[in-house]
Amino acid sequence: MKFTDLKLTTPYLSLSPIFYDKVAVTPLHKPFLISVSQDAGKLLGIGTTDSDVAHLLKVINGEEKLAGSESFAMCYAGHQFGYFVPRLGDGRAINLGKVNGQNLQLKGAGLTLYSRQGDGRAVLRSSIREYLMSEAMHGLGIPTSRALALIGSDTDVARERWEKGAIVLRLSPTWVRFGTFEYFYAKDEYDKLQELADYVIAESFSYLQNQENRYLKMYEQSVKNTATTIAMWQSVGFNHGVMNTDNMSIDGRTIDYGPFAFLDIYDKDYVCNHTDREGRYSFKNQPGIAYWNLQQLAKALSPIVNYDTALAVLDEVFGTTYEKVYTDSMYAKMGLENAQENDRELFQWMLGALQSATIDYTLFFRKLSRYKGNQKEILDIAVYQTPLQEWLDAYDKRLEKEQSTQQERQKKMLHVNPKYILKNYILQEAIEKAYKHDFSMVQDLLTVALRPFEEHPELEYLTKPTPMEYKNIKLSCSS
Ligand code: AMP
Ligand code: MG
Repeated sequence: MKFTDLKLTTPYLSLSPIFYDKVAVTPLHKPFLISVSQDAGKLLGIGTTDSDVAHLLKVINGEEKLAGSESFAMCYAGHQFGYFVPRLGDGRAINLGKVNGQNLQLKGAGLTLYSRQGDGRAVLRSSIREYLMSEAMHGLGIPTSRALALIGSDTDVARERWEKGAIVLRLSPTWVRFGTFEYFYAKDEYDKLQELADYVIAESFSYLQNQENRYLKMYEQSVKNTATTIAMWQSVGFNHGVMNTDNMSIDGRTIDYGPFAFLDIYDKDYVCNHTDREGRYSFKNQPGIAYWNLQQLAKALSPIVNYDTALAVLDEVFGTTYEKVYTDSMYAKMGLENAQENDRELFQWMLGALQSATIDYTLFFRKLSRYKGNQKEILDIAVYQTPLQEWLDAYDKRLEKEQSTQQERQKKMLHVNPKYILKNYILQEAIEKAYKHDFSMVQDLLTVALRPFEEHPELEYLTKPTPMEYKNIKLSCSS
């Protein structure tokens, strides 16, 4: 099937009118297509979009419509940096409808009822980041919204300086956020809460339909999914940066990529968001913040789910799910299969050693995946070697207790320890080229983003070490 042939439905518009604002896309001037993720296209059941790009561009720019499409923005509230904001909503995102279980949404498509002081636009810089990162997260096997295509334009957009407007066509099985529930809770619209919960169950957790206690079960599934995603973030070293409740998907997938970062050097205290002065959303705080956000969700659901029961579920399910997913992923990264009594100690020791060593997190594990006892190969990438050397001595001893051969173990490790990770400095290089209308690096990064565990000999330049001045930099959240 071609993109042109897609037939959309708009189930969200069957909800009460208070849930959305029907709004048209405001086209950008002189739009041009920058990149298409053919891999994301498969989700919609479309083959290559090569012959279809003119139409794709027009649809993204609001100049043409897909069959059945009706455009709208969704309302929601949210806790931003701990403070409740009763009315947010899609201020620059416009939904087109749904096909194959994916909701199509344009980010940067113009003003909506919820734009507040904003201009409804997204700049090229942040759009490249969101486009590539959505696909990279998927490539790493972590639940996320996807990105089908990215367009640029000649439209001027004011930020700290003048920039150009862009639009990403995003896909997600749901765009409902914790904040969507908070919106109706704060307005005392409890019948709408139930209407939304029924919608979410039908859309995301259909196996719960008609079950007893389904709203509690929906909450429990949200808790489980969120804990799983955050545990995976922690294992790959991803710092989201803006874990406000409006940026938390009800089905627990990663959404709304802003000033995110992958750790360059391992530092649990790292804060990628420049405006987050208190470090609320620091790397190490992410599991605790997810828990806090889920408490807010429990409160928002309290008119339809017993609050104390929900909190008890949260208490029980979050910790166990998080622990299991996180330790399983970390042990797999370390290549440990045959559990031993002191594994937890060895693992904690490793994190401490990494923290003291000043070492690239991703590269450390990739090197560990090829480690054959020559400690120097790993120690050479650390600034401070002693703590890591002592740990490697213990690791050497521990490996003797593994039953698999070194070759078998390393093969598995190479499948969980990515070679290619979208570090900010490399994204920045791609962005600078894109400013000069050279999008080749965006394309190269898309290739490795989708297959990060494989070798790509012709794209080796994307793995050069982070220059000193870019290590664990903080990012502006202007976008
Ligand atoms: P974010 O931090 O990007 O998740 O955005 C938080 C809220 O601000 C959401 O309701 C967005 O829709 C809104 N917003 C962010 N940037 C803009 C913009 N340029 N124009 C309108 N609304 C925006
Ligand atoms: Mg957001």
